[in-house]
Amino acid sequence: MQISDSIIRLAEQAETALVPHFARIDRIAFANTAKVLDAFREHRVAANNFDSTSGYGYDDKGRDVLDRIWADVMGAEAALVRQQIVSGTHALTVGLFGLLRPGDVMLSVAGKPYDTLEEVIGITGTPGDGSLRDFGVGYDTVELTPEGSFDWAGIEAKMRQYAGHLKMVFVQRSKGYLNRRTLSVEEIGGLVAFVRAHSPDSFVVVDNCYGEFTEEREPCAVGADLVIGSLIKNPGGGMAETGGYLAGSRRAVELASYRLTSPGTGAEVGATMGQNKPMYKGLFYAPHTVAQALKTAHLAAYIFDALGFRVEPAWNEPRYDIIQTVITGSAEGLCAFCRGIQSASPVDSHVTPEPWAMPGYADQVIMAAGAFVQGSSIEMSADGPLRPPYTAFFQGGLTYESGKLGILAAADAMLRAQKK
Ligand SMILES: *Cc1c(COP(=O)(O)O)cnc(C)c1O
Repeated sequence: MQISDSIIRLAEQAETALVPHFARIDRIAFANTAKVLDAFREHRVAANNFDSTSGYGYDDKGRDVLDRIWADVMGAEAALVRQQIVSGTHALTVGLFGLLRPGDVMLSVAGKPYDTLEEVIGITGTPGDGSLRDFGVGYDTVELTPEGSFDWAGIEAKMRQYAGHLKMVFVQRSKGYLNRRTLSVEEIGGLVAFVRAHSPDSFVVVDNCYGEFTEEREPCAVGADLVIGSLIKNPGGGMAETGGYLAGSRRAVELASYRLTSPGTGAEVGATMGQNKPMYKGLFYAPHTVAQALKTAHLAAYIFDALGFRVEPAWNEPRYDIIQTVITGSAEGLCAFCRGIQSASPVDSHVTPEPWAMPGYADQVIMAAGAFVQGSSIEMSADGPLRPPYTAFFQGGLTYESGKLGILAAADAMLRAQKK
């Protein structure tokens, strides 16, 4: 890999400035690793937990123990961790349909939820396809304030409007691909207290994607009823081959399990087909892997800020998710950024990413991904829509060293594109 000396020197300068931030990340990873190991010890994980089942998967001890370990690590009463959950969107769908009934209302209080949930809720999509809306579930939203905090008065007004029907208060922790702040677990705890005080019969449900292990606590620990995410993001540690999880109160997880399989059977079925070991190993690695991704994101913020690009979050801000945005300012800049990331990936480094018209998106999108697990975004990846201001969304990095090489290659590619 050819990287110019000026960028190598910039990286050295960045790492000196980032020492206290990296130390903070290491402390969080240490605390979370201790929590994971405590749960492994408490539940006496042994080699036979990795045994495989087929068919119905009755009495899969490894699966049941992993659920209990996951619950402990999340600070929850119960959890459902399954390879039969195909994605984050599927896990969220299981949670929403598990809890909501005809006549209920779901209120999203951090603005609109992640794009893929729009068709699940019935905001977009084809009537009759089986969205929540088709089943008579109402939906409304409250935006965050311009400062990016909860709009308490707005939330309270909606609670009064939907009194008796408000079954779910929904919040997305990460900014995802929106232009807003990521919420901390402490802020989500404030929301839980507010909901308990004003609408005690409502479930608080958190889309936790990209947030896991970036702090010492997860939203279950501050009282959220159901917390949901993907195993090919943070909590799979880069080891899980597929899957998703839901964690929270015993009743909420039970209701979700009835939706994932069927009422009555719930969590008692589901063959693991050899996937227990990568899921255990992934949870073991996850605090460390997330730390690698966080350090890579801090480094990216420092380097691109120094090169004159606008970045979010800033290099010296604490983070509650692993996403870093870089405003590249031009189509060529965005493509160069993605080319650099791709060229430093362990898989498909020879491939040149090109913009394409992805179904469901108004503008062309470019993506860089060279991961061991297809679509995994705890592994280094970048993408962005080809429209002003040409923002690159960057996340992941299984090791800081490889993440750093990706960032240096991206910076180098962008500088060369500018000189042309
Ligand atoms: C990735 C993501 C999802 C959806 O997960 P998929 O695995 O892509 O279906 C939902 N919400 C947030 C905040 C995400 O980052």
